[in-house]
Amino acid sequence: MTSRKVLGGERISPEEALILLESESLSTLGVMADLVRRRLHTDGVVTYIIDRNVNYTNVCNAFCSFCAFYRQPGHDEGYVLPVEEIEKKIAETYELGGNQILLQGGHNPKLKIEYYEDLFSRLKQRFPDLWLHALSAPEVIHIHKVSRITVAETLRRLCAAGLDSLPGGGAEILVDDVRKRLMKNKASGSEWLDVHEEAHRTGMRSTATMMFGHIESRADRIEHLRMLRDLQDRTGGFTAFIGWTFQPGNTELGGQEATTAEYLRTMAVARVFLDNIRNIQASWVTQGPKVGAASLAFGVNDMGSTMIEENVVSAAGTVNHMNEPEIVAAVKDAGLIPMRRNMLYERLGAPLHA
Ligand code: SF4
Repeated sequence: MTSRKVLGGERISPEEALILLESESLSTLGVMADLVRRRLHTDGVVTYIIDRNVNYTNVCNAFCSFCAFYRQPGHDEGYVLPVEEIEKKIAETYELGGNQILLQGGHNPKLKIEYYEDLFSRLKQRFPDLWLHALSAPEVIHIHKVSRITVAETLRRLCAAGLDSLPGGGAEILVDDVRKRLMKNKASGSEWLDVHEEAHRTGMRSTATMMFGHIESRADRIEHLRMLRDLQDRTGGFTAFIGWTFQPGNTELGGQEATTAEYLRTMAVARVFLDNIRNIQASWVTQGPKVGAASLAFGVNDMGSTMIEENVVSAAGTVNHMNEPEIVAAVKDAGLIPMRRNMLYERLGAPLHA
């Protein structure tokens, strides 16, 4: 019944998605997800973006037990990057053909809205066509609280200073019962959704994410996807969904990483269930290049970023690299066509370095 719905292009319910995730064979899930990918991307193009992650501060008072990256306020390893260093990183990104940075950091109690306004406007002055994909929804909530202004005002001022789009980080699992057990002081599920809804209302686009394979149940994962699909029905503002597995190394939470099969099953079900989100992105950063490439047979149509720099996943001891020629080769090996894109998923052309 569910497979007939998928074949016919009908929407499946959360209950049906859970049955697929729990009971369907991996190979059948791959066939279903691949069918949906082909239907949405008829020309066989797989996209990627040349950009860089810049983590402007690691000081954070959210205390997420799954995070190996942060340092609590006052810790001697805490940092705030000097603006000159951020500019240098951006200049290096331009040299490699990219004009976007993904700028994210901890919830640093010393950084208020004026810090971001000064930083963004200075970066935009120096690099007028820079695309600032910056600040997760929980960072926006944090800035609104420490600056004592509304969320709408926070977003308005950030946009006026140069913010172009919001990354989907900080969603983890949006079910609050799970969040309460994972983090002490971070935005709730509804706050995460509200920030994205407000951003979409102002015309800004964002991405949606899910970090899974820790303490959540499979039903929690489906409930998370349902919340994303419902919001997308209302706004249409998400450009892509990105899922990855919890990396336990060096974290307080610890435990085992989810298996490759579990990652692929979840991504395939997400592809089928999220019928209103056009793009599904691989997470080769957490899964490694081979599994990242394999996910192209499980509904994925985007290889994400060349990620010239990455600090958060590597803090957990997981270090994977894929430069542009390696991404291009992986896509071609899968019998698909690699193409560069921007954050809006507009195609920019053939690879620069193949
Ligand atoms: S995941 Fe983000 S919010 Fe949570 S502790 Fe790490 S840096 Fe802070």
